[in-house]
Amino acid sequence: MKSVPSPYPEFEIAELQRENQTLRQQLQQILEQAHRNQNIMERHQRFELDAIACTKFEELIAHIFNALAQTSELEMVTLMLLDPRQELAAMLADQRVELHAYPHLKLISNQRELGSSDLSVHKPVLGPYMSTRHDHLFRSWSARPRSVAAIPLRRQQKLIGFLNLGSQHAERFQRSMATDFIERLGSVIAIALENVLNNEKLVYIGLTDPLTKISNRRYVEQRMLEEINRARRQHYSIACMFLDIDFFKRINDQFGHQGGDDVLCEVAARIKAELRLSDTLGRFGGEEFVALLINTRLEDALQVAERIRRSIAGTACRLSDGSRCQTSISIGLTIMDPLLHRGEVSAVARDMLSRADQALYGAKHHGRNQVCYQ
Ligand code: GH3
Ligand code: MG
Ligand code: MG
Repeated sequence: MKSVPSPYPEFEIAELQRENQTLRQQLQQILEQAHRNQNIMERHQRFELDAIACTKFEELIAHIFNALAQTSELEMVTLMLLDPRQELAAMLADQRVELHAYPHLKLISNQRELGSSDLSVHKPVLGPYMSTRHDHLFRSWSARPRSVAAIPLRRQQKLIGFLNLGSQHAERFQRSMATDFIERLGSVIAIALENVLNNEKLVYIGLTDPLTKISNRRYVEQRMLEEINRARRQHYSIACMFLDIDFFKRINDQFGHQGGDDVLCEVAARIKAELRLSDTLGRFGGEEFVALLINTRLEDALQVAERIRRSIAGTACRLSDGSRCQTSISIGLTIMDPLLHRGEVSAVARDMLSRADQALYGAKHHGRNQVCYQ
């Protein structure tokens, strides 16, 4: 058989083959890049869906600090939330959220605290890190980023905070970059934040006494069951106090209902001031309060009760009309020792309250303005 001679000279064939190979390599690179982009998109989508699905503030904060840094391959993420009336701070303190567990979260009371930076409240600002402008955004980190994105978080035309992203790569955030993607991230996080804060507020309102702003009876009863279980697991005792303002009817008669309400608020605040953050205080009914002191023995609980009694009897309450009202409180105290009180949790809780109530009755019976123990 005769071989057909190629119409192309050999060097041209070699050239075409090389070109072909280069094109194949380029195509392969483009496919790989497309695949990587697809992965990034999917990761971001998952991050966003998970953020929107969060129902608790702490859950969302943890998600932002952990998952966002990972998803976006960022070294530093910080979050600033505007809390002008300290409502968020109060709500978190009430729920025993320890803010120092989140060093990269900062609650600020006004925009002035953002310093002299050139942050825009309308659009993300991207660019190289400059200590004069960005230092306060990343103070919680020991290192400093090389490029940053400061993203305003807005809901209903209102600034609610800033999400700040820091990268060790100078080219990661540049002034000339398009910000659509980052703006979208800011919108999703702002919606997710509004979501969890509304949720938390609803729970907070349902468990808070609207007058005194301390917990309500429902909360204390729920908490009591949880605390008894925990005390059993960790083998410590709980002190339970039943507190009742003396001759409160007379206060209402003398100072009017508003005067009575002022006294209730002041007394609640004074009791709270003597308790630890881990203790629970709730308004149980009209002028009655219940306090649970965690991991507390009788001698210590008696001292705390006596401090509360003195704090109330010692200084007259100042009412909103400027007048002063001298009052006192009677306190019934009991201890729940997990070794002695072994029954069903709800029965133990009922028994603990009933003993504290009987002790209170004793305090009233013996002349009021005193602490009794049962
Ligand atoms: P004692 O020393 O025996 O406890 O006497 P007391 O007058 O404090 O007790 P009593 O239970 O007879 O009266 C409680 C009063 O508290 C009756 C009620 O009108 C009033 N009260 C209940 N809830 C509120 C409230 O939210 N605001 C005000 N101002 N008064 C309230
Ligand atoms: Mg009463
Ligand atoms: Mg009373």
